[in-house]
Amino acid sequence: MKKIITRFAPSPTGYIHIGNVRSAIYPYLVAKQANGTFILRIEDTDQARYVDGATTLIEDTLTWLGLDWDEGADKGGSDGPYYQTERKAIYLEWAKKLMAIGRAYADPTDSETIEKYRNEDNLKKVPYLYRNHRPVTTTEWQPGIPIRFKSDPKPRDWHDEVMGDLHAGPEVQDDIILIKKDGLPTYNFAHIIDDYLMKCTYIMRGVEYLPSTPNYLAIYEALGIEMPKIVSLPHILRPDGRKKLGKRDGAKSVTEYREDGILPEAMLNYLACLGWNDGTEQEIYTMAELIEKFDISKIQTSGARYDETKLLWMNGQWIRKIFAEQGIDELYSRTKNFWPESAANYPIEYRKQVLSIIYDRLKVLSDLKSMTDYFFVDPKINLDLIINNKFLKNFSESELASLLSTSIQALSSIESSDWDANHLQETLNQLLADTDKKPAELFSLIRLALSFAPFSPALNLTLNVLGRDTSLSRLNALRAAILNDGE
Ligand code: GLU
Repeated sequence: MKKIITRFAPSPTGYIHIGNVRSAIYPYLVAKQANGTFILRIEDTDQARYVDGATTLIEDTLTWLGLDWDEGADKGGSDGPYYQTERKAIYLEWAKKLMAIGRAYADPTDSETIEKYRNEDNLKKVPYLYRNHRPVTTTEWQPGIPIRFKSDPKPRDWHDEVMGDLHAGPEVQDDIILIKKDGLPTYNFAHIIDDYLMKCTYIMRGVEYLPSTPNYLAIYEALGIEMPKIVSLPHILRPDGRKKLGKRDGAKSVTEYREDGILPEAMLNYLACLGWNDGTEQEIYTMAELIEKFDISKIQTSGARYDETKLLWMNGQWIRKIFAEQGIDELYSRTKNFWPESAANYPIEYRKQVLSIIYDRLKVLSDLKSMTDYFFVDPKINLDLIINNKFLKNFSESELASLLSTSIQALSSIESSDWDANHLQETLNQLLADTDKKPAELFSLIRLALSFAPFSPALNLTLNVLGRDTSLSRLNALRAAILNDGE
């Protein structure tokens, strides 16, 4: 059996759309499940779109997601180089082979003339096809002159692993450019040569390349080489399902999601399932499970709707899964850049305690900033939050102050050595009974005194982590502010 070789062939344009990453995940999975080779090839022939540093960003992103390539950019391999700009001579040699057999030609026609052809065809209402304007005289090729393919329009049939058996008429086949004026190849030509020389067995790419496939088939035929299996990946659609998801549709780049604190496991899981499922109800997949279960035949043919809410949900699931299976140390190691600045003044152990009581409410790790602030600095007292709280608004200031006094008394009766979640819960239960207040009333008051935040973890856990001194001093501070206010 042929060794399975797949590739991810991004263009280094600086922006990593989620669709780009999905085009990396699928070939990675296919290669890994067959003990094959996954290649990273950098398609940097479009100098106008080239962005400095973009290749590093691509490599970082792949590494972050755990998609290690076996051969390719910065790793080498037997069929390199893996940057297309370093393969210029190879493409020229192949274009010359096509010229030698009469299937390509040097074309000195300038761009104004080409524009004129286009306009004329438009006016005549005939489809613009360059082959109808193919120069009658031949030109000797020299650097600076583009090389075009000499098309052989005819009906073509091929098989796509996702879309099935496909057919195209001759009308779409044209004399496409193989080598540009700047000496670099077009994507249309370069990928064919590279996939052949790199012995790729699958081409997995977005369905947007489907309309050009008849032109590619003609080149394969002219070169007498076999086309790899084509796997056209469905479009990723906007949430409303009406259009292809674009940069402007609210979806962030993968880099932005990473900066927000989406875990790589969640990103991988979400994108792998965007247009693929194994036919079961399973939604959470580890990399190992994806490698085991991924199946090209289950890639869907229709567009897949992008759903950020689902991504966030999945991230929450992964945060919990990592905590449950790998523990707080592992989860903590993921949170390094996401704490509020003030957290730096506290020991790691304290931050881990905070994380362990808050993690199950996190959607993205960057939520840590707003959700944990009060563990590191005394919150600003905001009496409006108390007065307008739906459970507290019917209490007078003196009632509130006296409830706080009772709470302070009860809590300060706990010795420092006994200040733990269990003792605190007992004391809070007793307080409820003694004050005859509802939990929502009493606990909202204490919670706000401690955090002035819209959400905090279970009260006994919050008190426990904040510690005896801080908790009591915040309760006292609120009591004093209320009394002051009332004077
Ligand atoms: N460089 C192309 C892109 O980024 C790759 C398409 C392919 O995988 O062949 O869209």
